[in-house]
Amino acid sequence: METHIILVVGSILLSGGCIGLLIVRFTNPFFQGVGWLGASFACGALAAAVFAVVVDQGNGFFLLLADALILLAFVFLHVCFLELSGRESIIPRLGIALLIAQALSYFFYLHAHELRQLSVVTLGLLVAVQVGESALLLKKTNQKGMDAPVWFNIALLLGFAVFNLVRSAMVLVVGTPTNPQLPNPLEATAAVVFLGAAIGLGFGVFWMEGHQIRLKLEHLASIDPLTGIYNRRSFIALCEKELLRTSRSGEVFSLIMFDLDHFKAINDRYGHRFGDVVLCEVVEKLRNSVRNIDIVGRWGGEEFVVLLPNADAEAALIVAHRLQYHVDSISMASPRARGMEGENRITVTLSTGVATYFGHDPTITIHDLLHECDSAMYQAKAEGRDRIVSVNAPLVLVR
Ligand code: GH3
Ligand code: MG
Ligand code: MG
Repeated sequence: METHIILVVGSILLSGGCIGLLIVRFTNPFFQGVGWLGASFACGALAAAVFAVVVDQGNGFFLLLADALILLAFVFLHVCFLELSGRESIIPRLGIALLIAQALSYFFYLHAHELRQLSVVTLGLLVAVQVGESALLLKKTNQKGMDAPVWFNIALLLGFAVFNLVRSAMVLVVGTPTNPQLPNPLEATAAVVFLGAAIGLGFGVFWMEGHQIRLKLEHLASIDPLTGIYNRRSFIALCEKELLRTSRSGEVFSLIMFDLDHFKAINDRYGHRFGDVVLCEVVEKLRNSVRNIDIVGRWGGEEFVVLLPNADAEAALIVAHRLQYHVDSISMASPRARGMEGENRITVTLSTGVATYFGHDPTITIHDLLHECDSAMYQAKAEGRDRIVSVNAPLVLVR
């Protein structure tokens, strides 16, 4: 009797959850996988309803149908995780194979004497395999900053898999009661655990969604949309962190700031869109000129900045020189000159300032250093452009 009540309550709760999830899915394009979670809840609600109706009657076909719906619910949950993990293909290959295996085995069980026992054991094993695959997927695709919700879901999935295996083993040993009217603590516990797992995993998926959306927004807020490198705000924040670290450790770091020479002329002559292409090409060269640990940012317009951890004034000058050399090699056909070999190719030059922090000086702020770098860059402009001026290294490089 108590199992019956749990199933009715479960069916109502899962139906309500399913409707809520579908509303979220169709009103908010940011939420991924929620539609599949809704489908999973729908299968769970239907299965609980079918069980609630047929549990006392022992109708073999409907019992098997309800079991199939439960496995389908966990296959849909896996599709939800596939979509959330950003997988290109969300086809649940293993899930489909498990559903086919279940259908085939149930076809043979339909006329078997121990139908309920066989179906419970089979369902337990198949669900354990499916949720195990979901846990593995979450572990493999875990991204930085997502640990808490991902491990919550993995723990829940693994706990649920273990419960299913234990339940299968117990049913295999003690069998199912011959009189369905008698109270059955194992069945009542199973109904509570399935309902609890559905609610817990629903919460877990939303927790993951929340974290993922926050990380995406943080990324969008820190990146320059044209070039894909850090914008001024996040570049300064990273510099402040580096200054704090090096002011304690005594390590050095350097900053490079450069501005494209006469860039307005390129825009005026060939159009703003071509100017954008040139900016992206310069950033490509910039990325190729620095180490993995260096941080590159767009200061604004056609001005860029680089943070070079652990680089003294001489090392920074070498990087600035390498960058100048790489940018100098840019050779793009201007839009009007397409097809005219060697004609009308644009050249890009830079004016560059370099400043170095020598560690252990708490009086210097990052704005002081950036200002020094900016002044050096303007000195390079004033002295004729296409050159590098370093605040701390004595030589001025002119090509
Ligand atoms: P200088 O050598 O003194 O730096 O000359 P300049 O022409 O590069 O400098 P100026 O400050 O006069 O012009 C900068 C130009 O950069 C003007 C602006 O239209 C262009 N610019 C700024 N941001 C963008 C952008 O995102 N895309 C494109 N295409 N052009 C940009
Ligand atoms: Mg310029
Ligand atoms: Mg400028």
